[in-house]
Amino acid sequence: MKPSVGRVVHYRSFGTPVGEYASECRAAIVAGVPEGALPVADAERAQEWDSDAVVVDLAVLNPTGLFFDRCPQSEDNHRGGTWHWPERTD
Ligand SMILES: [Zn+2]
Repeated sequence: MKPSVGRVVHYRSFGTPVGEYASECRAAIVAGVPEGALPVADAERAQEWDSDAVVVDLAVLNPTGLFFDRCPQSEDNHRGGTWHWPERTD
């Protein structure tokens, strides 16, 4: 399934190292799908991402505010700073 502009996905927040804040799923809207883009902050570590991971520009809806970032996909380990398709809840 390829992401497209306007789809709602999950963004995985960064937890704090000692656990004051857990890593959590946040709602995010796909604001752009850059062709062939690498994660901005992680371009030098691109080989660590899944080869089929798709990078998207997200508008992340935190309960306390919005932020915008370019994020790689991580469907398996949901590491902080990545997006994934929403888990099924049924
Ligand atoms: Zn999720």
